[in-house]
Amino acid sequence: MNKNEILKIIKTYGLAPNKKLGQNFLIDDTIIQKIIDVSQPDKKIILEIGPGLGSIADPLAAKAFLYSAIEIDSGFARYLQDVFKSFESVNIIHGDFLKCNLEDKFDIIISNLPYNSASEILFRIAKDFSAGAIFVMVQKEMGERIMSQPGSKIYGALAVTLSYYFNSKRLFYISGESFYPKPDVKSSFLKLTRKERYFKHRDHEDVFHLVVKSAFWGRRKTILKSLSESPHMELDRDRVKKILDLSEIKHDVRSEMLSLEEYIKLTEGVVGAKI
Ligand code: SAH
Repeated sequence: MNKNEILKIIKTYGLAPNKKLGQNFLIDDTIIQKIIDVSQPDKKIILEIGPGLGSIADPLAAKAFLYSAIEIDSGFARYLQDVFKSFESVNIIHGDFLKCNLEDKFDIIISNLPYNSASEILFRIAKDFSAGAIFVMVQKEMGERIMSQPGSKIYGALAVTLSYYFNSKRLFYISGESFYPKPDVKSSFLKLTRKERYFKHRDHEDVFHLVVKSAFWGRRKTILKSLSESPHMELDRDRVKKILDLSEIKHDVRSEMLSLEEYIKLTEGVVGAKI
């Protein structure tokens, strides 16, 4: 797929790229081939979120056992349904991934994530699907935040939460030149490999999310202050002190210094303390 082909489809179908929906189409065949090589779609059940005009849909659908895609833009969905109408192993759904009710049956989920809703989409993939391998293109800066480690300036709720569900690896960078329209920023292509979920009860997992949200609600605070003054949870100061002692975490340490394991310990403390 190159820029001229994209422009031709847009013209023929009377479509218009919409900035709000993060519509930047991949037009670089070398990158497209790299994505196919690393994602190993052969005979797999694949979901693509936001296929756009199908830059990677064609090669994925050709190799997959089943290829499904969900696209929010009705014009793009109509175009792809038309292109793939005679393919029985292809299913193009017009809808919003954040509101959809798809069956959890995929081996691989792949997406060039729309910038505005990238973290929401990632959280939904994490919580509601069990696909073992997730491949995503994100803005470079977001990729760095996902991969960041405790103690780093950019480490926060995104890194902690995603590391609960996945091991993340950056496979390569993609320059703005590889997209049309050309975005101002670089992108990263990441592989997220699913881990076993530590908490077996969903309500404990919900507490974990509240603890992480609380820890980072006001940055640069101590963990004692963020947890006891959080607008997301009711925990009084003495109780937080006890939980921190139990978890062997110092009261004055800052939230951005704590590891996933420490957030898990804190959650166990909170669950034990019955919020
Ligand atoms: N995968 C294509 C297009 C990427 S642009 C390519 O790489 O060329 C991102 C796409 O996601 C757009 O087509 C946009 O319409 C779609 N999109 C944005 N939000 C969405 C949502 N909530 N659910 C499904 N698709 C969405």
